[in-house]
Amino acid sequence: MNVLIHICCAHCFGKTLDGLRAEFGYQLAARGLWYNPNIHPLLEYRRRMKALKVYLERDPVPVDFVEKYGLIPFCENTYGHYQKPDRCARCYAIRLDTTAERAAALGMDAFTTTMITSVHQSHQMIRAAGEEAGRRHKISFLYRNLRHVEPDEKKLREIYRQSYCGCVFSEYDRYASTTKHLYRGEGELESEGDDVFTPAD
Ligand code: SF4
Repeated sequence: MNVLIHICCAHCFGKTLDGLRAEFGYQLAARGLWYNPNIHPLLEYRRRMKALKVYLERDPVPVDFVEKYGLIPFCENTYGHYQKPDRCARCYAIRLDTTAERAAALGMDAFTTTMITSVHQSHQMIRAAGEEAGRRHKISFLYRNLRHVEPDEKKLREIYRQSYCGCVFSEYDRYASTTKHLYRGEGELESEGDDVFTPAD
């Protein structure tokens, strides 16, 4: 089973690999794609990309990187659609369409995304975007609900974990109603239960 996995961050990639390996075992031939024009600002983008590269030193999997910072394409894609869920539907679509196109070009059996591990994202919308991209590029979208997977923490130890979804809108949503970040170190808010997203399903 050759699967191209769209990767949103190192932690979700670890969960996705562990979940798919548990199901497919040695039949899984995974390849990754880093393509996230939705992550802002630039230093945050670089932090998350670097975190993935550190993870790959511990769990070597072939990954293609679209390294260019994608602020302008993201803004063009979401122009006039600034509220959830419309904004997120467009965000899922641009990332999954690019992944599907590349998976088809590589001759993979299917494609998927690490976003299916998240308790913060709408799986219903991710699945709809993935299946639509799959129809467009004639390749299967592999959907599984991997929210429950317990990742191998040894591989993820001390790897940077973000505290908001990605775009500047989500950063605002995350911090607008709190001043804790003025008193705590960066990244320390992540485990305090203020979800960026309320799951839609
Ligand atoms: S909140 Fe997350 S999924 Fe929604 S548009 Fe922003 S980065 Fe994309």
